[in-house]
Parts: sequence; structure tokens; C-alpha cells
Amino acid sequence: MRATLFSLSELVATFSGMTKRKPPPVPVLVSVWAKAAGRCSMCGEPQLVAALTEVTVTIGEVAHQAGATAGAGSPRGDAAVPFTERDKEANLMLLCHGCHRKIDSTDGQAIYTVDVLRGIKQQHESMVAALTDFRTENRTLVVTTRSTVRGHSVAASTREIAYALVESQRAPHTLGNLTYQIDIDLTDPVTDEWVWKRGKQQIDAAAARIAADISEGRVEHVSVFALAPIPLLAYLGHKLGDKWAVDVFRRSRDNTDRAWCWGEPTAPEAPEFVFELPDVGLVDGVVVAVEVTAEVQIDRLPGELASLPIAKVRPSSAAPGPDLLNSRAAVDAFAAAWRALLAEIERQLPTVKRLHIVAAVPAPAAVALGRFRRPYVDPTLVMYELGISQSYVEALEIDK
Ligand SMILES: [Zn+2]
Repeated sequence: MRATLFSLSELVATFSGMTKRKPPPVPVLVSVWAKAAGRCSMCGEPQLVAALTEVTVTIGEVAHQAGATAGAGSPRGDAAVPFTERDKEANLMLLCHGCHRKIDSTDGQAIYTVDVLRGIKQQHESMVAALTDFRTENRTLVVTTRSTVRGHSVAASTREIAYALVESQRAPHTLGNLTYQIDIDLTDPVTDEWVWKRGKQQIDAAAARIAADISEGRVEHVSVFALAPIPLLAYLGHKLGDKWAVDVFRRSRDNTDRAWCWGEPTAPEAPEFVFELPDVGLVDGVVVAVEVTAEVQIDRLPGELASLPIAKVRPSSAAPGPDLLNSRAAVDAFAAAWRALLAEIERQLPTVKRLHIVAAVPAPAAVALGRFRRPYVDPTLVMYELGISQSYVEALEIDK
């Protein structure tokens, strides 16, 4: 493999229009390259390495927002930026050759005005600054689960996680150049009868690693990006518990890199949740229907549960729906209602030993079911999952 040293003179050489005019000073070029992390500010492609030739070269171009001169061949040259400012950092940005051509083309100049280009540069530089703030105290341990959805193995992508963490103002822990994260493989199809046992083992192993990282002081915060059947998510919540600082993210139906971002809440107020607990005497079990994304079809419960009283957790005013839990505040509101139900069961129905949970909930609420059950105080949770016959079958138990 051949390699050449990357030099400052190459930086200067990559300044566009260098043949006719004196390039901006080297410190200015270095700063533009550094703040862009050596990536095109528009498409994000790395501009340092030409992979095919195995030779380290700079292929990026430092482009003017307002052209250097006022001439016809100087894109955006007539913008209201003083000529003395045009070779300064504020008017320059790192682009790849293709993006540079795009913004300087006749059509491109109409779309990519100086203001638009400043916005693009600003967004890119803040993303770089957030992701490379190695000294930040806001580190988080990323925990993902990979799962099978309709025959496909799915998990949050590195890019999706990066966007969600930037929004949350956190940076992932790293080992060398790599993100240090814990991935839990839950891809076994739910039709396998041993899936729940194996899933619990995988989660147990991951939880032991997280516990070690926290007790040894390497980690203080955990970010969960989980896709998995509800019983396993609740079990994951149980293993995480409520002693550690944990953020549980939610995948929205937005199919972009921002799928795991919370974004701006669509409703100004977070929804509120209430519980209903029937007034019953001495029973040892209660069915709890948890209705966030949809109503639970009670008639699909196994026959042996038919005689048990039914409690509910549901939104207080809105109907259940897939986008109801669309903010952290909404997740907190759900968790508060769940904890209140558990406390009320302890007070009112002390003989209850088992809660049979049938839930239509997104991942953060499923994790909350396990997280906020108090070990050794609250009843055992028996988690159900809709089987292929479209009736609920017992999946796993959460006790101790
Ligand atoms: Zn580009």
C-alpha cells in the first residue's frame, strides 16, 4: 500500500480558483477543513481519502459563499458581503467537487443563496462539534436490541443513533475510534417456543455488562434503542431498574435518519394517563390491559384468565393511538400512571400475587412496565404476546 503525507500545501492547492488568485491564508483554510471534520458540508462525504488509489489526498474544495469577485464568472459575487470579507472563514465552506459544482451552476445559484449556504455550513459544523466533543461529561452508553420484524432483522442504524444523541446533547462512549455500545441480539422468531428463555439470557448477559460498566465508574448514563417484542422489552426494563439514569428512545414512523429523534411535540401538552382498578375482594390475580397505541382485545385472552378482574392503564382523554407517546414528557406521564396503579394494587388488593399484562404500547412504555415494578414489593408480572393464532399467549414472567 502506498501513502503520501498530507501537507498544508495540499490544503492550499484545494482552494478553488487558486490558479488566478492568491488563496486565503493557510490558517483560514485549516480552520474551514477542521470545523467541517474533513467532510463535505452538504453531502457529508469524507474529503481526505481517495479509497480507490490508496493514496491520502485532499479531494475537497474550499468554496466561497459570496464569490471572491463581482465578475460574471463569480457565483453570488453580487451578494452584499464586503470584498474585504470574502476570503475570510465566515464566507468559506468545505464542499466536495460535485456539491461545489451544484451550488455554482446557473440553476444552483438561485437555490443556494449565501443565506442558504450559511445555514448548511452552520448545521454541519454544529453536528461535527457535538459529535466530537470528546471532553464532554454527557457521555452515554448506547444499548441496542436487534429484532426480527416481519421476517427482517432490524435495529437502529449508527446514523439514526447519532442524530438522536445529538438531539439529546449526548455523545456515545468510544473505544479507540469505535463507538462502545452493547447490542442485544433478539432476532429469534417469536414462533420458537424457546425464544423467551433465550431472549432473557441475552438480556441478562447485557445487563451484567452494563452493571459492571456502571459500578466500575466507566458509565453514568444509558441510552436504549430497542426494537423487540413487548415481553422482552419489559424484561429489559426490569433488568435496567430505576436506579440508573436511562433514556429510552422511540422509533417514530418517520423513515429518515431522524427516526429516533423526539423532534418537536405535535401537541403542546403531553397526554395524561389514568388507571382503572375494579373494586374486588380477595383475588390472587388481576389482568392489566395497557392501552397506549391501541385498545386491547380482551376476548383474545386465554380462557383461564376469564374470571379475573380487569384493570386498565389508558390515556385520560385521547383515544389510544400509535403517535400518542411522542415526547419524553408523555413517557413520564405514562410511567407515573403505571406506578400509581402498582401502589394502589398494593394498598387495595394485598392478596394479588400475579398481574397478567396484555399491552399495546411502544418500546419506551414497554420498558417502563419492567423498570418501575418494585422488586420484592409488587406482584409478579406475567407478560403476554399475541400469538400467530391472534390470541394472547403467556411469554415470560418478571419476578423477584
Ligand atoms: Zn458533497
